[in-house]
Amino acid sequence: MNTKNIEAVIAPREPHFVGDGFRVHNFIPSGYHLDMRKMDPFIMLDYNSKFHFPATDKPKGVGVHPHRGFETVTIAYEGSVSHHDSSGGGGTIHQGDVQWMTAASGVLHKEYHAEEFYKQGGIFQMVQLWVNLPAKDKMSTPKYQAIEHKDIPTVEVENGFIEVIAGEYNQTKGAASTFSPVNMLNAKLNEGGKANFSFPANYNTVLLVIDGEVKVNNQEIVPTDHLLLFTNEGEDFSIEATENSVVLILSGEPLNEPIASYGPFVMNTQEQIREAFEDFNNGKFGTLED
Ligand code: MN
Repeated sequence: MNTKNIEAVIAPREPHFVGDGFRVHNFIPSGYHLDMRKMDPFIMLDYNSKFHFPATDKPKGVGVHPHRGFETVTIAYEGSVSHHDSSGGGGTIHQGDVQWMTAASGVLHKEYHAEEFYKQGGIFQMVQLWVNLPAKDKMSTPKYQAIEHKDIPTVEVENGFIEVIAGEYNQTKGAASTFSPVNMLNAKLNEGGKANFSFPANYNTVLLVIDGEVKVNNQEIVPTDHLLLFTNEGEDFSIEATENSVVLILSGEPLNEPIASYGPFVMNTQEQIREAFEDFNNGKFGTLED
């Protein structure tokens, strides 16, 4: 066993609203020193910790906006979100589902609380990640993977199980297809449950405690809503649930390509950012009604 060292346990920052529907703590790129390059290929992580939205008759969310050069991944832990994009993709994700949108050459999209959620109100809890695309794939055709909870493979561990959203866990392959090596797992452990993980040392690796509390490497306690960052040394780590817990684990191979970003566009050069604005202004991202 070649243990992966712990760099830091990071508390959630003050939340802010994205549109009027997502109350998020940003961990990447503005938290601690987790900028896009440091966490490559994970270039954004917004975490909507458990938050109660009252019933309403008008959906809350984010209106039409563009993306180019990466993928957006939304994991629903509580509540439901509807999404539509200008490439014709869309749908509603419910508790346990994952929405994996490859914006690539460019889409317009909008994200709202689903009707079944906003009419009743309730607890909402979600993660949104941006996963960078390799330079050669940034201008590929947009696509959309709707991943239902029932289609996410699971692996049993001691007193719990691992859901393999993307990548691999103990030879079980994940539900999502990715453009570069990305592991995205949910560990769902009962109190006392344990699991071991192994990822290459150079992969950027974090875990986010969605529910409960875990002890990592038999050493560091990570409370609810906290993020643990590993160093790029060592490969193996363990988690043990000190209460019933849900933990999101992310580990990805850095692309090690230049990053130029501005708002909703993440490319390799400033020239490509200018092109993105030009294409957006010229309607090349398609159309989508508000
Ligand atoms: Mn978006």
